[in-house]
Parts: sequence; C-alpha cells; structure tokens
Amino acid sequence: MSRTSELQAELEKASTTYEEFAARGLKLDITRGKPASEQLDLAADLLTAVTGDDASTPSGVDTRNYGGLDGIIELRELFSPLLKVPSDQLMAGGNASLTLMAQALTFALLHGTAVDSRPWGQGPHKIICPVPGYDRHFTLAESLGFELLSIPMDSDGPVVAEAQRLAEDETVKGMWLVPMYSNPTGVTITEERARELAAMPAASADFTLLWDNAYGLHHLREHHPEVLDILRICAEAGHPERPWIFASTSKITHAGAGVSFFGAGPETMSWFHANLAKISIGPDKVNQLRHLRFFKDPAGVEEHMRRHAAIIAPKFDAVLDTLERELGGTDLARWTHPDGGYFITLTTLEGTADRIVKLAAEAGVKLTPAGATHPYGLDPANNVIRIAPTMPTAEDVELAAQGLVACVKLASYEKLLA
Ligand code: PLP
Repeated sequence: MSRTSELQAELEKASTTYEEFAARGLKLDITRGKPASEQLDLAADLLTAVTGDDASTPSGVDTRNYGGLDGIIELRELFSPLLKVPSDQLMAGGNASLTLMAQALTFALLHGTAVDSRPWGQGPHKIICPVPGYDRHFTLAESLGFELLSIPMDSDGPVVAEAQRLAEDETVKGMWLVPMYSNPTGVTITEERARELAAMPAASADFTLLWDNAYGLHHLREHHPEVLDILRICAEAGHPERPWIFASTSKITHAGAGVSFFGAGPETMSWFHANLAKISIGPDKVNQLRHLRFFKDPAGVEEHMRRHAAIIAPKFDAVLDTLERELGGTDLARWTHPDGGYFITLTTLEGTADRIVKLAAEAGVKLTPAGATHPYGLDPANNVIRIAPTMPTAEDVELAAQGLVACVKLASYEKLLA
C-alpha cells in the first residue's frame, strides 16, 4: 500500500470513529480550570467557621469592622512558610489574586514603582509572556496597554536568553511567570532557572518578575518540588525588589470566595500598601478568619491539598492514559505530564488546533479556543490545546479525552493528505 492510500485508510477509520462519537450526542466541557463540586465540598466547614458572637482573631481584632489593610496577621503567618515569604512581607487580600495583579500593574503605570518613580504608563510599556501561558495574564496586560512579547518555554521554565534579549529594551517592564505547574503546561521552574531570571540584566531598573504562584501547593503526586524562596534568590542576585509574588486559595478552598496573597521586597510592600490605602480601607477579614480557623496551621493546608489530589489525580490519569493508548508512538501529538496544577497541554500537528477545537465542539466536547494560550489569542503554529480535567466527573473526563483523540486523528489525517 502506498503512503497516500495508507493515510486515506486511516482517515476513513478516523472519520467513522468521529461520527460514532458525535452520534452519542454527549455534552462535555474541559475548558476552564475550575474545581469540581466535590473539591469545593472539602471546604464546607469554612462557611460555618465564623459566627456572629465569635468573630475576633486570636490577637483580638474584630474582623467585622474596617481596617487592617495588610490582612490578619495570623493568616499571613500561617501561609508565610507555605509561600516562602516572611509574614511582614506578605499581605492577605480579597478573593482574587488576579485583582492584586491588576492593582499592582495599575499602580506602576500611574505612579511608578518602589525602585523608580517614573510611571510606566508615561511611555510605551511592554511585558514578556512565556508561551503557552495563562490567557487572563495576557488579556489583563493588553487591556492596560502593555505590548505583549512572546518567548518560548522549555521543560525548566522560560528560555532566559530570549527574555534577556528583550529586556535590553528599557520599555520592557516585566515578565509573567507561573513558577509551579504552569498554566497550561504544568512546567515547574527549576531553582537554576529561577536564579538566572533573578540575575538577568535588564535595561529597566524596575524590571519585575510577576511571580504568580497560583499552583504552588497543588501537587498531584506524593513526591513533589518545593516552593522556591524567590525573594531570597532575587536578593542574593542583587535585585531584592524584582519579584512580585501572587497566590490565592481560589483552588484550595472556594474558587469564588478564597483569600489572595501578595508578597514582595520590603520597599515594594511599602509602595503597594501606600497605593492600596487610597482605594481600600481593608480586606474581608471575616473570610480570612474563616480560613485561619478552617486550616489551623500549615500542615492543615497540606493535608487539605492531599484530599484535592485524591479527587483530581485520577482525572488527570484518565486523560493521560487515553492519550497514551490512542496516540502514544504516533507522530500526531505530544502532551505534558504534569505533577500538579490544573492543566495538560496537548501539542498537535502544526495548523490543526483550531480544526480540532471545531470538530470537538460539533461532537459535543467543549475545548478552550485554539490560540487562547498565546498573546492576542494567536498561536502562530496553531497547534496548542489546553485540557482542563478537574471539573467534570472522572467518567466524563475519560469520554471527553476519547472524543478529543478522535478529533485529533481526523484533523491530523486530513492535514497529512491535504
Ligand atoms: N493565576 C493563574 C496562573 C491561574 O491559572 C488562575 C486561575 O485559573 C489565576 C491566577 C486566578 O487566580 P484568582 O482566583 O486568585 O484570581
């Protein structure tokens, strides 16, 4: 059989499998990285942890009242060792770290930073975006007027030589990073790579690492990497104010009602506090107290995260097993094998991602739009697909993975025969 007729036969097979799958009329969704209800249930006791007659912190703060801009000290102390940020350099905020990112960037655009008082917004401002990355980082920066500059990632993190080349431009003000179990690749930045980023020369004195450790505690496996002390690493490299650290309990307790955290060098914390004081009298301390009482101590958080892993690791494995069984050993796709976080990245043949997403939608499997993982929604190779396995049931995730595989095969053979 010639190569073309072999491919033709594969295409026909793929087409039949696809039609059969589509005929089942399923409605599956593996788009957004949301916790499943079962995960949210793990933190049910949070909702009754503070009552009307018992709303004061151990140090005597009545959480129902105004004030305490930095957040309650006991919760900052609890999360300090977990996030590797000294408690006096760690602020606990409202329910969304994305809002803290927006605030920090807006302050820098309007007022400059702790390192350089010239507002970033006075001139052109650009930001480095390792790809594939988190769509909301990109849309936030774009909406604030940053030009988005893509750089590639490898298995140790972003490629520093590329970042360094771009940072020679004084209008490049910073770089997005998801240091652990990155959205969407699952890559964790190694200590060596972090040291390179900390030491990297940059033309802008206030070049900033937007260190979004959204998944730092979200391990799927028993053996796992540790959160890096990026403050110490940057201080040792002579750039104590370079990292702005963000985190939250969105995917630890309740995604819509968690607590966010901001950590940075001492000067940056004073700068952030002073700017924040103009727009807030204080965060939701009642919710912070709920979290304190619910977790009790850092070990309580770690134990809680093991319960999450018990729910979601089988869902990741269902997708990975299906991909391996159906696509392993072919040249049609490769994928990441994350040890934590919320996503798997599937890389398909160039030019097929949008076709796969469309085919999947028509067969009842909703996928994140192709390109969403890249600045401006444009994936130049059109071959990256983000899989979010946490929200559906394990059974539905497995079905969705089977449907996805059928679409990958169909789109690939169409492409190879084109
Ligand atoms: N950062 C990353 C990398 C994320 O993937 C997400 C949510 O998917 C967030 C931040 C959102 O965090 P928050 O809920 O604290 O705003």
